[in-house]
Amino acid sequence: MSQRAVTKSRNEAFARVVWSAHILSYLSQQRSQPAVIPSVTIAKADTEAEAEEEEEEEEEDFPSNVTTALGSVDEDIKAKFLDCIAETLSSKKGWHYVTATGLREYECDVIVDVARNTDFSVVEADQHYLTLLKNFLFAQGHTHIDYFTSLGDNNTSLGKGKHADTGRLDFEEATITYHSARLNSSSSRLHDLIRMKFERIFEAEEYQLSGASSLVRVLRFLQATEVNLISLVRSSYECTQSPDVKIFLDSILGLTASNKVWREICLLARPVSACRLLEDVARCLPQFQRIEVILHKSPDPVILDGQFTLSIHEAWQRLGLPEQTAATRRVLQQFKDVFKKDCSKPFSTHAEVQLMIHYSNSLHTEPTLAYLGCSKKSCLLCEILMRKSPLQLKTRGRHGKCYPAWGIPLSNIENLEVQLSV
Ligand SMILES: [Zn+2]
Repeated sequence: MSQRAVTKSRNEAFARVVWSAHILSYLSQQRSQPAVIPSVTIAKADTEAEAEEEEEEEEEDFPSNVTTALGSVDEDIKAKFLDCIAETLSSKKGWHYVTATGLREYECDVIVDVARNTDFSVVEADQHYLTLLKNFLFAQGHTHIDYFTSLGDNNTSLGKGKHADTGRLDFEEATITYHSARLNSSSSRLHDLIRMKFERIFEAEEYQLSGASSLVRVLRFLQATEVNLISLVRSSYECTQSPDVKIFLDSILGLTASNKVWREICLLARPVSACRLLEDVARCLPQFQRIEVILHKSPDPVILDGQFTLSIHEAWQRLGLPEQTAATRRVLQQFKDVFKKDCSKPFSTHAEVQLMIHYSNSLHTEPTLAYLGCSKKSCLLCEILMRKSPLQLKTRGRHGKCYPAWGIPLSNIENLEVQLSV
């Protein structure tokens, strides 16, 4: 990541948010906080294993199994499309790559706005993948002759002269390659989770137990010296399409271990599931065959002016918080030496808040769907700000954790007090 310019905030309201966020994160130890306003986005209940996994690995993803509650079927399809694009463009694991998407539909155009937590530095791989994505969506409503004519002579990215199905396979492969870092991590985790049970699963196949065969293919690919990621992903997708596989895993591994294995299989299958979903949306809503993707530059991170570098005790007083209990004092004591340093770091704006601010600040760019696609659930502070916004944008859900590394652009900090008091 390249060095970013940093801007300095002299606004006390923002300093108070930074102090509060740090104190709350110390006290809560990053546990989920109750919803500030009952959520209107209905996230399908996570399995126990998913919840545990998110606890263990905060930046980990979850399989796309979310339903939204926006109202009409069309709106739900569009929301799924936005989540799918956000996940697909979040090509690597980690905070930097968390991606959000918003939608603007006009008579002849569909614009998808995209932001990432840190700058969406448009490297060649991103740009190439975006071109493939647009071409793939376009191909869903056109004969292959229209399609290749539209690409022009220089563009052979999806295989000139091939049929539509081959085009889909090529796009799947491109998606798998684009996500190879994530998929390789998932493949090693799956290998570690299941390696002790390889023989039992192979034996089960010999007895032709239902669900064993597609899973055996996954295991064979995992065992290879060099994992063939494309075949592994496709076999994982096959597993997800057969309800027998999960039942079979439950019987071999027990429910808790089986849930963990299943989660990795679903993550591995995700590039294929995403391609199928994009294909379905573009066929169902033909306007989505022609999309324009606008990548938004993330605002410069913000740091607090030195006048707000206080001790944890001074910050507590300045926030007007009630007298500390003995237990609170004990916890905060552990952080008294790091508080000033923690509060003096540069804070970036999370992707969904970047888009929300962009839409709020521009008269002619309001989203046409009150929903932002996200590659992850929203944190507590993003949730609070979005609920207070007049745009009332929804997302796939909340994880409720207070991440202290949270900022908003300097240009918006002046409005923060108003935004938070609405
Ligand atoms: Zn956030």
